[in-house]
Amino acid sequence: MNGRGMGQGRGQKGGMGLGVGGSCVCPSCGHKEAHRRGVPCNGLKCPKCGAVMTRE
Ligand SMILES: [Zn+2]
Repeated sequence: MNGRGMGQGRGQKGGMGLGVGGSCVCPSCGHKEAHRRGVPCNGLKCPKCGAVMTRE
């Protein structure tokens, strides 16, 4: 058996494509917060109105 077919890697580098450096925005009132790495926007709540934030 030759080990063909496996071992040629995946084309993706790193793993942080979208996550870093953006901001999250409240879809309800428009409040923005800096996005923190490791914390998804939809895990945040708007401090003003309490709606779930979304990625800008
Ligand atoms: Zn809000």
